[in-house]
Amino acid sequence: MKKVALVFVLAVFVPSLALAWLAVRSVRDQQFVLERQQSLLYQGVADALAKDAGAYLADRQHEFAQQVETLLGGHRSRDTARIFDDELRTNWSFASVGFVVTLSGEILSPSPTARPEAMVFCVDYSKFLANRESAEVYANAGNNSKYNGNNSIALNQADQKLAPSQSFQIQNQNSGYSDKDKYAQKQQMRNVVPQKGGDSSTDNDFQYSKVASSEAEFRQIIGDASEGSVARFLENKLNVLFWYRPPSDPKMIFGAQISLPALKSGLQEVVQKLDPALREDIAVALLDDTARPVSVSQPEFATNWKHPFISTEIGEALPHWEVAVYLLNPAKLTQSARTLKLTLGLLIAVLLLAIAVGSWLIVTDLSRQLTLARQKTDFVSNVSHELKTPLTSIRMFSELLAEGRVKDEAKQRNYLNIITAEAARLSRLINNVLDFSRLERGEKKYHLERCDLAAIARETVGTYRPHLEANGFTLETKWPDAPVLVNGDRDALAQVIVNLLSNAEKYASGRKEVTVELERRAEPLPHVEVRVLDRGPGVPSGCEEKIFEKFYRAHDSLSSGIQGSGLGLTLARQIARTHGGDVVYQPRPDGGSCFILRLPVLSES
Ligand code: ADP
Repeated sequence: MKKVALVFVLAVFVPSLALAWLAVRSVRDQQFVLERQQSLLYQGVADALAKDAGAYLADRQHEFAQQVETLLGGHRSRDTARIFDDELRTNWSFASVGFVVTLSGEILSPSPTARPEAMVFCVDYSKFLANRESAEVYANAGNNSKYNGNNSIALNQADQKLAPSQSFQIQNQNSGYSDKDKYAQKQQMRNVVPQKGGDSSTDNDFQYSKVASSEAEFRQIIGDASEGSVARFLENKLNVLFWYRPPSDPKMIFGAQISLPALKSGLQEVVQKLDPALREDIAVALLDDTARPVSVSQPEFATNWKHPFISTEIGEALPHWEVAVYLLNPAKLTQSARTLKLTLGLLIAVLLLAIAVGSWLIVTDLSRQLTLARQKTDFVSNVSHELKTPLTSIRMFSELLAEGRVKDEAKQRNYLNIITAEAARLSRLINNVLDFSRLERGEKKYHLERCDLAAIARETVGTYRPHLEANGFTLETKWPDAPVLVNGDRDALAQVIVNLLSNAEKYASGRKEVTVELERRAEPLPHVEVRVLDRGPGVPSGCEEKIFEKFYRAHDSLSSGIQGSGLGLTLARQIARTHGGDVVYQPRPDGGSCFILRLPVLSES
């Protein structure tokens, strides 16, 4: 049994526990996985729309370059420069101011006196464009560098001005200034705080802006690139400048201050590209640098714009502008995670319960089988012993008689009586065993007929009496005067009574008093009781029902010395039940056992 328990623990219990532990862990992670999947999906959406916004700006940048080329149209650059502000604004609605500056810092356009906007522009930008002052800017250069050879001196000069201690970096991919090791970027906090960091490596990363400003002069920014943009905050207001160097005159830089209202209305369409299938779950907004929405995918949607689910910055061209994704029903995510968790949890619980119940069934069945196997082995040795004892007596006494060594007649009779009693015992035992095996195979047949139980009992007890009295027992009987009719098999009922009598004899201990009573009872239904009583030690407590199980012995042969097969009561109960009655045990108040055979009685008529 110990070995079986060990195998069970190692093969079933431990692996089940390990699996359950893994399952519970994975269920616990489900919410995280689900949120992660959602955030990755929406991060993709935000990134794509931010890329679209960037592409829109790049298109305007090229549009501006074309405007410049059209205005130049074969004229001398200096001639075009004088009228550039007016002409550009007339032809291109995105420009609020057009400016022209030479590489050496001479501002050719606009004229400060031309109009108030030009005046403000000159106040704000003349020193910066003339390289006489550096400013904190967000620079974005185009990819087409054409002037590497031409302005190498200027670059070297610019290089010398940059000291490692200064906190800036020029975001010009084609210039020699993109030296991240040498110049630290100014890291800034973002205007919005997304709930999810998307693919950020650490939890706090996403609170910082990926767009960095740099302290630089205009000349440093343009480097050797052919076009680009510069964004700058003046009195907390975003200014965006596009610039372009025509290949025909690379020493001249044409630029435009972009009209933010025009840009905003142009960018309206970006968030409208949101996939209609996603509109049930999310809204997307384009936020400006003050975290106010420029455009929203679902115009009726409103929320605390500073706390999107996820957001992506557009880049240096529009610093602190973001494409932000908001969940329309934030509870839905937790809800579906909870539902998933609950379903999986329930499934695991049911599986564990099934394993537990299955294991319990296996263990109980196994232990029952083991007990049965042990009882069968005991049975074989008990029966062999029971067969051997009467056989030995029969052989011994019959040999004595056969050899003619016993001359005394009384002794001879006594020996013959012993031989008869032992032979009866033998046949009783063999009957029991045969009947039991017939019952087990379902082959036992009873011949039920109307018979008088009182007569059967009287006859059976009468046959057994000499044997009991010869062994020093006193036998008392109480019979009714009238017959007690039952529907039964005579032999089978006699076998029940003999089994009970034989037990009363075997387990009588020192007090050899046996009583047999037969009584009619009216309650609860008319029935008859045959009671076999003894004054022995009784059935040990806790075994009152077990003694009716096959092979079960409360007094085993080894410790009590009383022979038995553990089948007598099993058979007695089986027979009684087939007759619609039962055999039960009751302890006697003054010590001893009382076994009762109950049977339904037939009416007299
Ligand atoms: P067995 O061959 O062992 O007597 P039984 O089925 O007749 O088998 O009885 C089962 C067990 O019930 C016995 O082993 C004994 O422990 C207990 N038993 C039966 N009759 C009595 C009795 N009259 N007094 C005490 N114990 C009894």
